[in-house]
Amino acid sequence: MIYMVYDIIIIGGGPAGLSAAIYASRRALKVLIISKDIGGQAIYAAKVENYPGFELIPGFELIEKMRQQAKKFGAEFLSAEIGEIKKEGDIFKVEDKEGKEYQTRAVILCFGAEPKKLNIPGEAKFKGRGVSYCATCDAPFFKEKIAVVVGGGNAAVDAAVLLAKYSKKVYIVNHKDKFKAEELRTEQFKQFPNLETVFNSDLKEVKGEKRVSGVIIKNLLSGEEKEVETDGVFIEIGHIVESDFISELVDLDERRQIVVNPKNETNFPGVFAAGDATTVPYKQIVIAAGEGAKAALTAYSYLQKSI
Ligand SMILES: Cc1cc2nc3c(=O)[nH]c(=O)nc-3n(C[C@H](O)[C@H](O)[C@H](O)COP(=O)(O)OP(=O)(O)OC[C@H]3O[C@@H](n4cnc5c(N)ncnc54)[C@H](O)[C@@H]3O)c2cc1C
Repeated sequence: MIYMVYDIIIIGGGPAGLSAAIYASRRALKVLIISKDIGGQAIYAAKVENYPGFELIPGFELIEKMRQQAKKFGAEFLSAEIGEIKKEGDIFKVEDKEGKEYQTRAVILCFGAEPKKLNIPGEAKFKGRGVSYCATCDAPFFKEKIAVVVGGGNAAVDAAVLLAKYSKKVYIVNHKDKFKAEELRTEQFKQFPNLETVFNSDLKEVKGEKRVSGVIIKNLLSGEEKEVETDGVFIEIGHIVESDFISELVDLDERRQIVVNPKNETNFPGVFAAGDATTVPYKQIVIAAGEGAKAALTAYSYLQKSI
């Protein structure tokens, strides 16, 4: 049990959390970041070309710079998964999944999002052994190989185009009869004769011994199932916000995102939120970082008033 009371506990060590930590600790607040990992999704961005100030930087390098910056100003880091937050008197009690408790006067929620799963046989078994949720990270490993991409939005189409540059064959499997992605993106398919679209179809199973060797694809119109040989499966069907643990504390929208106002306040005084876990549109590193900064400044004002 830790008896120290922090000024701010930040849940999540992605770009939003790290930026919030930089801003809050530069205001001489006692700050603790509690996170399952450092970097969040940004770690998987092999090349970031849209973060101002860097023409091109690998995601993990950008994150390492943010981490060092937060540490320099005195932010503390703790590796844990938070399972509950409650308020008793003036103090928030933040509890990890092992029952350890941390105390704070304000909380900033920056726990981001996770890739959606298909939940089909073989998916979990072959995760990291052919099943990937990140084409940007893993496409270079598919030189002269076969890949299956699942999804119909921008992320899936971008993944298919990227993979087609490396692989000898790419299938993109979509359960509808057209893509949800922007037309400009699907236009690129014409440049890649090795890219085949499979509409009105679902993936039923991922097969293999030690690694992925095939998938079962079901045609939803005819009901026909066929096995297709592949070295990997890229699941690009969006992200979910795992916010159940705070659903009784703050308001969520229909996508389970935390509802925030332009100052990053939630409906619960003393609880702020930033980044991909919130209702703020455009899920990007620069946006998460900007929102994290705003959340920290608003939390600072809140703490000043509550002294
Ligand atoms: C493959 C890929 C490539 C991308 N490329 C780019 C790009 O080039 N440019 C760009 O701008 N954006 C890119 N993005 C998007 C960008 O990475 C995200 O918008 C950004 O990381 C969101 O930051 P965040 O801090 O809100 O959340 P996240 O990055 O999701 O971080 C959330 C953090 O919270 C932690 N966490 C979650 N739940 C808990 C809990 N209960 N307890 C404790 N810790 C918890 C997680 O472990 C993680 O560290 C990319 C995303 C992906 C997946």
